[in-house]
Amino acid sequence: MTFQDLNLNTPLFNALDDLGFTTPTPIQAQAFNVVSSGRDVVGIAQTGTGKTFAYMLPILKNLKYSKQENPRVLVLVPTRELVVQVVEEIEKLSKYINNRVLGVYGGTNINTQKKAIAEGLDILVATPGRLYDLALSRVLQLKSIQKLVIDEVDVMLDLGFRHQLINIFDLLPEKRQNIMFSATMTQDVDILINDFFKSPERVSIAVSGTPLDNISQNKYSVPNFYTKVNLLVHLLNDIETYNKVLIFVAYKRMADRLFEKLDEYFKEELCVIHSNKTQNYRLRSIEQFREGYNRILIATDVMARGLDIDNVSHVINFDTPDYPENYMHRIGRTGRAERKGEALVFSTEKEQEAIEGIETLMDMKIPLLELPDMVEVSTELIEEERPQIKERYNPTKRRDEDAPGPAFHEKKDKNNKENLGGKYRREISKKYKKPKTRGDKNYNKKRKR
Ligand code: AMP
Repeated sequence: MTFQDLNLNTPLFNALDDLGFTTPTPIQAQAFNVVSSGRDVVGIAQTGTGKTFAYMLPILKNLKYSKQENPRVLVLVPTRELVVQVVEEIEKLSKYINNRVLGVYGGTNINTQKKAIAEGLDILVATPGRLYDLALSRVLQLKSIQKLVIDEVDVMLDLGFRHQLINIFDLLPEKRQNIMFSATMTQDVDILINDFFKSPERVSIAVSGTPLDNISQNKYSVPNFYTKVNLLVHLLNDIETYNKVLIFVAYKRMADRLFEKLDEYFKEELCVIHSNKTQNYRLRSIEQFREGYNRILIATDVMARGLDIDNVSHVINFDTPDYPENYMHRIGRTGRAERKGEALVFSTEKEQEAIEGIETLMDMKIPLLELPDMVEVSTELIEEERPQIKERYNPTKRRDEDAPGPAFHEKKDKNNKENLGGKYRREISKKYKKPKTRGDKNYNKKRKR
């Protein structure tokens, strides 16, 4: 397939020609008609696959020339670097198109950005925090947005932008096209899609279900968290075999919990990365693991993305990923550059369905290993594993209908007062006839930290 087959217009075609691009990448080929159709779209693709053009080509093709001041396309990305990069990509494609593109992000002068917005624009690329500040200041009107793109949504949610995204959704017109790109599917991403998207079409470059030949895979059936820890400690004690080990867990709380447990045994050999750690801490951890000062790295799926580390001897899936694609990404971290690599996956009873999903994708059964005799099977359970406690029969428990109702005598005036709270706010709003707020206070608090 060539770009000619995509039925592009001449300005886009010429811009691609100038760039020397003749063939659409798989995600571009797949996404073009779906994005063009105006339906909600969820794309699964990693950076480097050409995903920016995958959504921008159809958007630019359908964006008519207009003099209107308010933007019609909004692209949200998690970091300022990505704002710059996406703006550059759009500008490359817009070489022969008369459109106005602007990138805005936090940490820089907001007034300069306000001025730029006031001059009018068609496409706005932004990080969520700064976008929300600009929208609150009313310089930026979002009511004319027809297309919303959220790029790298998994990173966005992992960095804690969920509330800001929802605040932004509130300011957008209901009738719009939602386009979302994510490198991994996580539970958070799934929830966001279900809450805000209208039966989206899913496009993804087929994750190869064929693992590399040089990665050997095995699985363990393990009843619970603490037994998984015991098994892990047992394996990691073999320093010679397990000489560079990447351990995956699904979310940051689990990463911290596991780190705490393993720290009792492997102190200096251990490091961890997830999004609640500072950038410096993460960089240092990765460096130490890469250089071999630390033998063991615990990571979440999102944070381990793009990690290019050689000679990883073992990838251990401490939990079984719900999405088979994530498993493929995880185990692909070992067995690089023709070297032999080993992948292990630990699954509880509850995770059996997930492991079957992975085996179906690969069209193979992962060999099951017996738990070594020395590994102690724990009966202790963590909070998430404990069964929901149902209350036993309790005849003395007060039923709702027996609860005391409101007082039946008249209350004295002073006791009848209702506590409205926020005295200062009420007085100010009486004085100015409308509430005065300072934007999203929680957001400001978070950023100060
Ligand atoms: P992205 O995945 O959007 O970050 O794009 C990765 C890189 O691939 C960017 O530098 C693009 O300019 C480039 N690229 C995008 N589409 C194509 C294509 N069809 N052929 C060759 N390179 C491309």
